[in-house]
Amino acid sequence: MFQLNEKVRLTASLVFDTAWRVGSGKEGETMSDLGVMLTTAGEPILPGSSLKGKLRSTCETLSHALGLNACMLNHKASGVKCTSDVDYYRKVRDDYQKALKKGLKNRCQWIDKHTCDVCKLFGSPVKAGRLWVSDGMLKDWASVVQVRDGVVIDRDSRTAVDGLKYDYEVVPPSSLFELCIDLENPTDADIALLGAALFEWCAGSSLGGFTSRGLGRFHLEEIKVFGVDLNDPDQQLKFLTKTDFAERFSNLGNWESYFSDRIKQQLQSAANNQQSPNPAGETEED
Ligand SMILES: [Zn+2]
Repeated sequence: MFQLNEKVRLTASLVFDTAWRVGSGKEGETMSDLGVMLTTAGEPILPGSSLKGKLRSTCETLSHALGLNACMLNHKASGVKCTSDVDYYRKVRDDYQKALKKGLKNRCQWIDKHTCDVCKLFGSPVKAGRLWVSDGMLKDWASVVQVRDGVVIDRDSRTAVDGLKYDYEVVPPSSLFELCIDLENPTDADIALLGAALFEWCAGSSLGGFTSRGLGRFHLEEIKVFGVDLNDPDQQLKFLTKTDFAERFSNLGNWESYFSDRIKQQLQSAANNQQSPNPAGETEED
């Protein structure tokens, strides 16, 4: 049974340094071929699903450096067994059904063994994740959508195809959104992984469509980290009886030292595991 023991909330400002687009999948308001996602009031939307997807891929890239594993949703390519890969899940599904019948403890152990570190945090078909990302909250933008021209490139000759042009919408640079990321019962490894991704995002990354054309460069500012420990009776009472965020959660202080400490810890435990391999450690059989 799920029991909430600890919650960590992270807030930050996300600033786009270049124009960016999250496609609407249809024609734009400006009649351009490829629209951007807008609210009914005509303001750009930065969906939590896009942010979570980007965060997941950042974590996948950094996981190895932290001594953690990532299935990359492809068991054969990554060599990591994880039920998020449909082919792998099909292979072990009967085994999973058996573990289900043996009770909760067996089921949890089975899931733990067959889920990579990244999917433990972000979720897999057999287990909910521990991380939630809200839609970006728009704080500032240029109040107009721009239209750019694109040409169709022939993949073989790498030249423009005569007469084949299209246009697409972008949101101009300097758009600013507020982000909110929640973690429930995070492990030290989860916090280390998220922390490493945040350092990367602060240095600058890219998000959305057409990033290979230089769109979607962004960085983070003003990261703040809050938490509540529900095993502490004082904190528990405030969390359950207060309505104001500042009273329900405590500020956990400087985000850089909070995450650096966990990253150092994770690196240390990865080094220790390497020196004395865990007997239950995963070995690749096929
Ligand atoms: Zn996985």
